[in-house]
Amino acid sequence: MIPPNAAEKRSLAQFIQAPILEEGFSSVYMRFTDQTAQELLALSRRPDPDDPEQPDQFVQEWASPAQTLGQGTSERILMDLLGDRSHPYFYARVQGLNLGAFQVIDDERVPEAFSVGAIRKVDSEVFGDIWCSFPTQASQARAAALREGVVKVLSYALDIRIHPDRSLEGRAEVQLESRSAQNRLIPFGLSRWLAVSGIEDDRGRRVAVVEDLLPKGSPAEARAYDQVDVVLPEPYPVGERFRLIFKYHGNVIADVGNGVLYVGARGSWYPNLGLGNPAVYDLTFHYPEKLTLVATGSRVEEKSSEGWSESRWRSDGVFRVAGFNLGPYISAERRAGKVQVKVYATREAESALEKRRAGAGTPPVIIPGPYGERPSILHAIPKLPPPLSPAALLDDIAEIASAAVEYFTSLFGPFPYPHLAVSQVPGNFGQGWPELVYLPTLSFLPKADRSELALNPKGGDPLGPVVVAHEVAHQWWGNLLGWDTYHDQWLSEGLASYAAALFLARQKDGDRQFRNLLHLYKEDMLAKTGEGKTIESGGPIWLGQRLSSSHDPEGYPNIVYKKACWVLHMLRGLMIDPKTGSDERFFRLLRDFVSRYQGQSVSTEDFIQHAAKYVTPESDLERNHKLDWFFNEWVYETGVPTYHLEAGVRELAANKYLVQGSIAQNDVPRDFEMLVPVVAIYAKDRRVTLGRVAVSENGARFKFTTTRKPSRVVIDDENLLAVVH
Ligand SMILES: [Zn+2]
Repeated sequence: MIPPNAAEKRSLAQFIQAPILEEGFSSVYMRFTDQTAQELLALSRRPDPDDPEQPDQFVQEWASPAQTLGQGTSERILMDLLGDRSHPYFYARVQGLNLGAFQVIDDERVPEAFSVGAIRKVDSEVFGDIWCSFPTQASQARAAALREGVVKVLSYALDIRIHPDRSLEGRAEVQLESRSAQNRLIPFGLSRWLAVSGIEDDRGRRVAVVEDLLPKGSPAEARAYDQVDVVLPEPYPVGERFRLIFKYHGNVIADVGNGVLYVGARGSWYPNLGLGNPAVYDLTFHYPEKLTLVATGSRVEEKSSEGWSESRWRSDGVFRVAGFNLGPYISAERRAGKVQVKVYATREAESALEKRRAGAGTPPVIIPGPYGERPSILHAIPKLPPPLSPAALLDDIAEIASAAVEYFTSLFGPFPYPHLAVSQVPGNFGQGWPELVYLPTLSFLPKADRSELALNPKGGDPLGPVVVAHEVAHQWWGNLLGWDTYHDQWLSEGLASYAAALFLARQKDGDRQFRNLLHLYKEDMLAKTGEGKTIESGGPIWLGQRLSSSHDPEGYPNIVYKKACWVLHMLRGLMIDPKTGSDERFFRLLRDFVSRYQGQSVSTEDFIQHAAKYVTPESDLERNHKLDWFFNEWVYETGVPTYHLEAGVRELAANKYLVQGSIAQNDVPRDFEMLVPVVAIYAKDRRVTLGRVAVSENGARFKFTTTRKPSRVVIDDENLLAVVH
């Protein structure tokens, strides 16, 4: 198998140390709906009756493993058996002679039809490594149609009752539009902890559901696989609208101590067609009166009687996802222009945090992995236990969140919604959903508690204002503008991360905090993995979630959040007007991008083409009015350059000095080029940018004149992701 492009060859080489896959195998297990059977039969022959080694044990040996091996693929096979056979499927699990077990898939129903990967276990964590993944000729030709899927979702109407024992009972009415005249199977996302008691269509017919094709704990389930497959009584013509009504129940809300509730399955508490399907949401919740509930969208009704509360929430426009949070909250409110910002937290922290603080001998607590961001393990550390109170900083969080709303409005354009709820969630991650931000309990604690309980030993304050601002920024980057495929999610995360860094720069002592944050991110990029390579070399930003693998579990958060933040910072550098030092052009680029693409899903190419309109004469290194050179190096490829500067200063006349020197470039591919900012350092460490030097494989020479004699001339590594000597 030879990958069709350099990026996928490099990805393959990361896993098997070779850019092509050439492997003998001892056995192979195949499942398919294509022509493989005919091809195999044409090549096969009857066993020779005189051969002493008869394969007579074959059935006995394979009957049981074949059942286990088939589990993860049954749903996909069923889809073809019940519907359109013109988009076939092929799956092979290969027992390689050198590489161990790996799998090869050609699924002609998805745009990136072909992939090779393997399940790998490191310590106790299981990874679904994707060695390479790319379209086939056929899937590429109909990529747009494939992306539409077999069905389009128009709206969700959910009615949810949350009982005092925290169990949930739901009714979901999903309005759909058929995109395939033959399809009968629709896979819905739904938490494995929620059981479906029945599904009906709008004519009152009972609809079949397959819940057990993916038994819990099978190897195919390595990545959270929460799904039910609905089998329609008959296919609907293309364009016809129909409804499915689900009734389901189960428990996805955990009591994590001190009255704090944890809503698990935040992305799968209702039957859904995933993030790529924006829809209108109408949510009604019934819950014990002593709890407060917040959800995505605007609250349009709320009432209480006889111990129960009821509230109804409608999406403002279409949302990619809907969620809720609840607890015995108290709240604080601010206004940011026209936007109402309301923050909700409990009086006490979850007991895991209390225990971690109280310490001795408490086992680590694993907080389940949220959708999108990484799971975490909270380790016990010994400490005296005064109670931790998230409610204490309610007002501060309201202040920070409303300041972020106002600042980002000035940078990116109007806040997309009438309000924003910020609610506390146990653990150490945040999420920024439409009109509803989940913030970790740690963010609600005073800085001293936060640093003491924080998980990163390297310093910084990742769960302080940075996480608040990051999640607020997702209202523009992620909600107002979605992302096209996993390759493009870096735009959302990178822009949210960079927005958060910019917000930090506006706080007290902000310049220093901003520099420190970017410096920490750079250190994380250049840190070495156990294999002695830099984290950054793990793969290009464009690989997205594939970067987290058995080689580097943190590859995705490190490269897609931190490197992308740097890439955007450097893009801003390229847009700076050399005469005035203004960065207005960069922010105009972002504002225009938002207004051009709002309500849509954007791709990396959309962004690159848009950015080209803002190229400056100085940054147009290829003289083609494009910035492809920049994005190719920093987004599609890996590599952090090393620069070595030598410079001298000569007095030309009174108050006129000539600064001249050279810059050498190393550690990157030969065609790498970059605009390298050079600064003069004067007394008291005052730094003045002299200019930007276009440096390529042959290095570069430069000349600047200044009115005062600098004490030193250096490469501005505060504004460049590079190793500088
Ligand atoms: Zn994020």
